[in-house]
Amino acid sequence: MSIKFKSTRGDKNYVSASMAIVNGIAPDGGLYVPEDIPKIDFKLEEITQYSYKELAYEVLKLILDDFTQDELKDCINSAYDSKFDTELIAPLKKAGNDYFLELFHGKTIAFKDMALSILPHLLKTAAKKNNVNEQIVILTATSGDTGKAALEGFADVEDTKIIVFFPQEGVSDVQKAQMVTQKGKNTFVAGIKGNFDDAQSAVKKIFTDKAFADKLKEKGYVFSSANSINIGRLAPQIVYYFYAYAQMVKSQAIKMGDELNFTVPTGNFGNILAGFYAKNMGLPIGNLICASNDNKVLYDFFKTGIYDINREFIVTVSPSMDILISSNLERLLYHLSQSSEKTNELMKKLSAEGKYSFKAQSCFKGEYASIKETFDAIKSKFEECGYVMDTHTAVAYCGLKKYLAEAGNKDKNKNVIVSTASPYKFAKEVLKAIDEKYNDIDPFAALNTLSEVSSTAIPEPVKDIDKREIIHKSVINRDDIKDYISDILK
Ligand SMILES: *Cc1c(COP(=O)(O)O)cnc(C)c1O
Repeated sequence: MSIKFKSTRGDKNYVSASMAIVNGIAPDGGLYVPEDIPKIDFKLEEITQYSYKELAYEVLKLILDDFTQDELKDCINSAYDSKFDTELIAPLKKAGNDYFLELFHGKTIAFKDMALSILPHLLKTAAKKNNVNEQIVILTATSGDTGKAALEGFADVEDTKIIVFFPQEGVSDVQKAQMVTQKGKNTFVAGIKGNFDDAQSAVKKIFTDKAFADKLKEKGYVFSSANSINIGRLAPQIVYYFYAYAQMVKSQAIKMGDELNFTVPTGNFGNILAGFYAKNMGLPIGNLICASNDNKVLYDFFKTGIYDINREFIVTVSPSMDILISSNLERLLYHLSQSSEKTNELMKKLSAEGKYSFKAQSCFKGEYASIKETFDAIKSKFEECGYVMDTHTAVAYCGLKKYLAEAGNKDKNKNVIVSTASPYKFAKEVLKAIDEKYNDIDPFAALNTLSEVSSTAIPEPVKDIDKREIIHKSVINRDDIKDYISDILK
């Protein structure tokens, strides 16, 4: 029997996994969720024998169950290859007494590569399976890392175009340089005057603009999304929770069957939600610690049951988490309430009043770290054992320490910190944290300095990034997004 995907908001059209990937978002503006989260059909003990690719197949075939074995294996093989700088793909590192799951060994040295190196292949395969003959146009609003990872994933993939919008004042210099130097005939990048939520809301509006979609369809185009609202992004992220668990067992940090906690630096709630799926599929996960930066909407939500975006948006040193509306939380609300009516009601409240209240028992614990705490954590971990965390990972690190202090001996599980970016992606901020003498360092010179300070090599993807040609120069108002797109697709 195959899984059906339905909208969190109750649209009555159920679709297959491949169609959910093609559509990106449901017609009523909801997110696709599996009607039931499938259980693993292999013995948990087996996961320690699998390579990353083998495990990816075992996990993905359960969710993306209308892909044939060959289709899925082809997608997996095209994604998790030498684009990653280690065959482990997602290595687990022990630094001092902490375990870090490093998800930054791909092309853009951030965790988005885990999903975005496979999404273009899933999408192309899914379109073919469903006789979609239009060119697929990927629209993406990015807080920095998604944009680049999507551009890398889709660049020069036949029959696709990729259009990326980023907040002009909300990404790091290196992130910006990575995006505006992107090569590929089918790639388009524009800065938006505004913050990430402005960019994301504007793109979401276009996805539900039926008249615009119809017009483009006549011209042979269909929109899809590479944002973490696409189920094709979420599903591949489940894999590394299993993989981390297997590595913890293999290194004898835990015994097979023990519960394991994960702390995840969270923005759009995609990464940590994949952990929730892994748990529901049968992986022994105890608690999922959701770590926020100063934009701590989620922290407040998990502590009080009130989600409230009526607050100042704060630009922090962990820009990929500078988000007030965490899109994927909608999926959690659906799964916890088991009700699309309820989810719909909450989402309507969110859009009308900017807040809602919802309480439910769950495995999520909210924590947060201020900018100062983030900096202090980077410095102290570096001084303790020479391990350099990026600013996002450091938020998770702080979150875990705070959680452990609160939980005392009530929670005896081992913990894994999910590390979402290489420190080189945020080298300037990381150096500032380590020593204030670097306060005014040039963001690109910072790459060389970080290499010297940490005795590690600059990752290939950012080497000489400032010397590459700037290809994408547009900066537009958020209200002009539609015109910008029409211009490209004329
Ligand atoms: C995207 C991103 C996050 C947040 O992940 P979500 O899935 O949006 O919660 C955290 N850290 C880094 C480096 C990221 O790129």
